[in-house]
This record gives sequence, C-alpha cells and structure tokens, in this order.
Amino acid sequence: MKLSRYFLPTLREDPADAQVLSHKLMLRSGMIHPTCHGIYSWLPLGLKVLAKLERIIADEQDKAGCHRILMPTIQPATLWRDSGRYDDYGKEMLRIKDRHGRDMLYSPTHEEVATDIMRQFLKSYKQMPLNVYQIGWKFRDEIRPRFGVMRGREFLMKDGYSFDVTKDAAVAAYKKVVISYLKTFERMGLKAIPIRADSGAIGGDLSHEFHVVADTGESEIFYDCEYDALSANTMSFDDIERIYSAADDKHDPANCQIPTEKLRTARGIEVGHVFYFGTKYSKAMGLSVVGRDGEAIFPEMGSYGIGVSRLVAAIIEANHDKNGIVWPASVAPFKFGIITASWQDPSIVDIAEDLYQKMITRNVEVVYDDREERAGVKFADMDLIGIPFQIVLGAKCNDGIFEWKDRRTGERMDLTLEALFNKVDENDDCKNFVKR
Ligand code: ATP
Ligand code: MG
Repeated sequence: MKLSRYFLPTLREDPADAQVLSHKLMLRSGMIHPTCHGIYSWLPLGLKVLAKLERIIADEQDKAGCHRILMPTIQPATLWRDSGRYDDYGKEMLRIKDRHGRDMLYSPTHEEVATDIMRQFLKSYKQMPLNVYQIGWKFRDEIRPRFGVMRGREFLMKDGYSFDVTKDAAVAAYKKVVISYLKTFERMGLKAIPIRADSGAIGGDLSHEFHVVADTGESEIFYDCEYDALSANTMSFDDIERIYSAADDKHDPANCQIPTEKLRTARGIEVGHVFYFGTKYSKAMGLSVVGRDGEAIFPEMGSYGIGVSRLVAAIIEANHDKNGIVWPASVAPFKFGIITASWQDPSIVDIAEDLYQKMITRNVEVVYDDREERAGVKFADMDLIGIPFQIVLGAKCNDGIFEWKDRRTGERMDLTLEALFNKVDENDDCKNFVKR
C-alpha cells in the first residue's frame, strides 16, 4: 500500500474526549471513527488489525476441532421466551419490532440461536461432540460505554457453543477451549491469565475469565508469578487449576496460600470468558436427542467468548510507547514500512519504488510512505501506527545500503539488499498459516 493513496486519517493532537491510551491511539492513527456513543466505524488500518485477530482466532478454533458458522445479528424474541431469558436480560438488550409488530432484538449473545439450530439438527448422541463458533457483531446497550472499543455498545465477539452427551465430555470440551484460548492470545503477543469466575447470568458451575495485564484494566487481578514463565503450548488445564489466580474481591489475602513474593497484583482487561452450564438451555428449549440405549438425553453445553474488538484495544494497552503503538508482528496491519528520507531526491524515490514493487511481488505486507512530506513527519507516523519493521532509504541506498529499524527495540542496522530480503523472509510469518 502506498500511503499517498491510503485512507488513513491520522490526527496530530490527542482527541479531547478519549481517556485511555488505546482509545487515543486508535483515533490518532485513524483506525476507528466514532459514529455515535459506543458505536464505531472501522477504517482500513483498524479493520486490517481486526482481520488479523479473526484469522488467528479462526485458525486456533479450527485446530481445536470447532466449526465456523455465522448466525444473524437480529433474532426473534420467541427464542428468548423459550429459554426464559427475555424478561430477565434487562436494558442491555436492544429490543425492536419488525413491520408486522413482532418483537425482535439485536443479539447480545447467541446461546438461544445456537441451541435452536441444534434442536432441529441434532437427533442422536452419535452427532456429538460438536462445537460451533462464529465471529460476529453483538449489541449491548451498556450503561456506561467507555474507553472506545474497549467497552462499546456494538462490538465484535468470537462466540462458540459446545454440545456433548455427558458432563465429562462437556468438561473435556471446555478444557480444550481453555487451552486453545491461551494459544490464541499468545499468538497475538499477549499474556492472558485464566481466572476462575462466577458464571453469572448464564448460570452453571464452571467458568473462567481471561485477563490481559494492562494498567487501564477494569479489574484488579492477583496471580502466581509462575504464569509469567509458562508457555501456552505446554500448559495443561491441571496447571491452571494448580496455579493461583483471582480477580477483584475473589482474592482473599487471608486464604491465599502462595508466598507474597510470588504473588503478582495488576490491573486486568477481560478479553475472554468461558462457561460450562450443563443442560440449562437444552432443557429449557427442548433440545433432546436419542442416547445410546434409545433414551432421550439433553446435551450438555458450554459457551465460549472472546472480545475481538476489545482485544485490539487491549493489545495497544499492553504494547505502546511514547511515540505510539508497538504492534506485535503477528497482528500488525502491515509488517513492513518503507520510508524515504527525501521525496525530492529522484534516485532515492526510484530505489524505494523498486524495493516496494519487489516486496509486493513477494506478497509481503508492506506500506510505503510515498507522501510529499518531511522525513520527520513520516518517521512519526510510521511509529504512531506501530509498523514493526521499518526500512529507511537515505543517501546510502544509492550504494545499495538500507537502514532497518525495529520499532519495539529501536535497534537500527545497515543492510545490503540481499540481507534485507533475508530479514524480510525471517520476519514474514505468513508462511506459518497453513492454507486451507
Ligand atoms: P464484561 O464483564 O466486560 O461486561 P461480560 O462478562 O459481560 O464482559 P461476556 O458476555 O462473557 O462478557 O462476553 C465475552 C467477551 O466479550 C468478554 O470477555 C469481553 O472481552 C467482550 N465484551 C463483553 N462486553 C463488551 C463490550 N461492551 N464491548 C467490547 N467487548 C465486550
Ligand atoms: Mg458485560
């Protein structure tokens, strides 16, 4: 992408109405635009990041054996009357009527729709285990939308629903999702702490929240420093049960068994929430199947959510410096940036154009700042939008020398074209995605 042709409405000044850093940076870097209170449009740069998160999430869900579907944003109230939640859900639900006067609603969550699909499709125990998920927009008329997309009214969620024959199988499905979530967050460059939680309005007896450590988190979290050392690829559910973590008033200093020097206290942003709730919805909505001995059984269910749009803000909260966003390479809107020290020097511009074309031919995600702007402005914008690897073309590029800059470490080095392409290949993780 050439910046001169890109729709990137960056702001020089901090927007007055943004309180937290991620919100400021998302507005300043032209990622989102407020359409009204708690409702945002996603502009090209923001949408690219959102798509990266979707891709990682979908990849890990597929690996965990889940099936992607897409459910509607508008639902009939009848489904919620079946489950018994229509009157309980309260003012967060946006209730609307269609032209025939039927009660409809904008989906705050999809347990009812998923159960409704399965009550028509699931007939036998043989069709389970089954886990379906979607990545779709939700609406909750939050009492206090704030911090930009962190707590919006309309937001993107990955939500999954599992159906199993027995409680043991359902708990196994639940554990599998928990581990896949840890891998998902780790691939986004995040450390997410799983914390045992109340299952709240959904009801049931097993629930975990996933919190990303960041100063602006809404919750206070407490955890054993052992989490900092563990990798999601080797962690088991037993580790999670064994290692201490708690949020807010669930932490009781009197009963906390771990030594104080191992206890970490931090603010946490909730980026995921999973529930096992048994037969609550299958019973209420009449989802039953034929069991092994011909008996009728109600599937055991769980539901699993990731706040996809909130994650964009959470990643920024956890990855920024005084100059702007510092994207982890796996989620960066563009992995590489090209900057010319002077747009007025035709030989440098020719070399930049050539480099850009070569990178495009190799399918590399690159943004080339070809604007007729001072170098200082370009450096500042490239840092603001957080491009992980920046290639600077100064006078030396006439002799075949390019400057490579690492956004996170600030490290710079001079490279020949060949060495430059070796670095590009090394840092281009597109090849890590298996083509499906
Ligand atoms: P919270 O306590 O933050 O309101 P929740 O428990 O109501 O979250 P769930 O119903 O479990 O949320 O939804 C799953 C995930 O969706 C949450 O973990 C969170 O990351 C995200 N989410 C929930 N509400 C919002 C919102 N208003 N804006 C953005 N993301 C949200
Ligand atoms: Mg909520």
